[in-house]
Amino acid sequence: MEREIETKCLHLEEDEGKTDHFGAISYPIYQTATYAHPGVGQSTGCDYSRLQNPTREHLEKMVASLEGGIDALALSSGMAAISLLMELFKPGDHIIADSDLYGGCIRLFQNVSDKNGIQFSNIDCCREDIESYITEQTKAIYIETPTNPMMNVTDIAATAEIAHKHGLLLIVDNTFLSPYFQNPLKLGADVVVHSGTKYLGGHNDTLAGFLVTGREDISEKLRFLIKTTGAGLAPFDSWLILRGIKTLGIRMERAADNALKIAKWLTAQDVVTKVIYPGLPDHPGYEIMKKQARGFGAMLTFQLKDKESALAVLEKVRMIRFAESLGGVETLITYPATQTHADVPQEILEKNGITDATLRLSVGIENVKDLLAELESVFASL
Ligand code: PLP
Repeated sequence: MEREIETKCLHLEEDEGKTDHFGAISYPIYQTATYAHPGVGQSTGCDYSRLQNPTREHLEKMVASLEGGIDALALSSGMAAISLLMELFKPGDHIIADSDLYGGCIRLFQNVSDKNGIQFSNIDCCREDIESYITEQTKAIYIETPTNPMMNVTDIAATAEIAHKHGLLLIVDNTFLSPYFQNPLKLGADVVVHSGTKYLGGHNDTLAGFLVTGREDISEKLRFLIKTTGAGLAPFDSWLILRGIKTLGIRMERAADNALKIAKWLTAQDVVTKVIYPGLPDHPGYEIMKKQARGFGAMLTFQLKDKESALAVLEKVRMIRFAESLGGVETLITYPATQTHADVPQEILEKNGITDATLRLSVGIENVKDLLAELESVFASL
């Protein structure tokens, strides 16, 4: 019987019953760059930490197990993971990418991947006809679901079907829901991306990124690339993410409960013109979320009536911190226009509906009464 995800966050099945590492319950941190050889032509299994490190490997097995993949690679940040992934492609290749992605991805694609000869069509993958953008050169479809920050929801299984009909890879950034709520590989995706900085780490204290796959051929190529380019996650950071993962389940549950309550509260505020949370039944992706995810997550975006109101909220919050990033235990509020999406071209911002009155909330695990009390006092003063 397959274990439940909360249990998988704590126990790696293949290690059970073993007393390696003196029976340490917390996996040891192998803070070493290199390893001695027992003899000429012999290896302990570890030769150099860019290639192998037991702490990183333990974390990789854990993340592969959570996503239902055969392999996971742990990298120094989400962007390091996505940059490595782009090395699968060559000049002349074309990728269909959602237009509403984390701004750093758009920056990477438009300024670095493009320079390397990879072309992109940025489309609204949940509304536009993806197939009509496929050309002879197309090699992959790249989506986030829900997207950052507009919370658009794309049907993963339907998109995987289109991708595979045309021999393309489906890449899904699963950062917003984490493997606790959604497993894209099980719905047909070929590669899952994570910013491990967010829910996996969960404490706003460590940067990390992951690439997970269920395909042997992709794993082989990525393993070659990580050893060659060298952005593997450091041992101590691997341990911090392992520690974060232990509580992923209870953090996600609490944060998502809080998010739904806050989304409902925001909906009733006069100064708020729109609340975008996929757990509200009027969200266009609500039914797809119910089908493909086990929860709605804890990210929500809302529009205020004007820029002045948005800036006033950012100035007035105290316990809720005005900061970039998401997915940690502390609630953060972000201004996409000048922070996460500052480098996204104006036409893409407009296409996605991101304005100077758009705010994004990463709801944490505080008692929701305190979060609502702070929001009430901030909104009362607008
Ligand atoms: N993917 C998503 C959805 C993100 O929100 C982010 C960062 O905010 C990244 C990837 C990049 O991750 P990192 O900041 O760990 O490089």
